[in-house]
Amino acid sequence: MGNYRSGRNSQGKRLGFKTIITPSQAKAKQHIEALGTVIDSCKTAPQQVLINRLNPIIRGWCNYYSTVCSHKTFLKCDYILLFSQLRAWARYRTGNFSSTTLVKYWHYVNGARIFSTKDGIRLISHSKVPLARHVKVKGDKSYFDGDVFYWSTRKGTHPELPNRLARLLKQYKGRCPECGLLFVADDLIEVDHQIPVSEGGTDTFDNLQPLHRHCHDVKTARSLTHAAEGAVDNQPFC
Ligand SMILES: [Zn+2]
Repeated sequence: MGNYRSGRNSQGKRLGFKTIITPSQAKAKQHIEALGTVIDSCKTAPQQVLINRLNPIIRGWCNYYSTVCSHKTFLKCDYILLFSQLRAWARYRTGNFSSTTLVKYWHYVNGARIFSTKDGIRLISHSKVPLARHVKVKGDKSYFDGDVFYWSTRKGTHPELPNRLARLLKQYKGRCPECGLLFVADDLIEVDHQIPVSEGGTDTFDNLQPLHRHCHDVKTARSLTHAAEGAVDNQPFC
């Protein structure tokens, strides 16, 4: 059902092609916006800094949405990232997008041009991320297991974690409130203010939450979008 639904323009006239927004497209849009925020913040940063910021976001997002989003959605994310967002980033730095720009930021890796530094630090593709979802769902390496479990739950502290984070992990039972997954040992975890300090949020535990770094980026992009354009995320899925 719905395969031949036609989109309409603002006057209600049929456009003759489908403009159905699926949940996975909405998630992909949100993700692309989060990548855009990072790219903007790295306009003058070295290429390797940008790649090192993008890779964990791409890896985390693909793993989390691997059951929701199709391979085609991942390919589309790669396409937008490479042919629009990163080209714009490169153009900003060199003044135009010439073959010199291409050669400077895209190097050959196994016969294909990849957005990479000449030292071999390269951007990963959404379509080629090894998916580790099923390992993660078991949660067998969760912060709440074994020794870490003992320290965080009994004491709210852990020798390898900052106290504030250990207490928050205890409060949130080891789960990221944005994506609902358990944190695992190699996740990048950041402390987020639910209500930003700039909007009067306090630095107290009732206003703090632990988030995966990529979930934090998604949340930030969402609030920026809200601030800039109003409730974009409330677009109905047709
Ligand atoms: Zn998360």
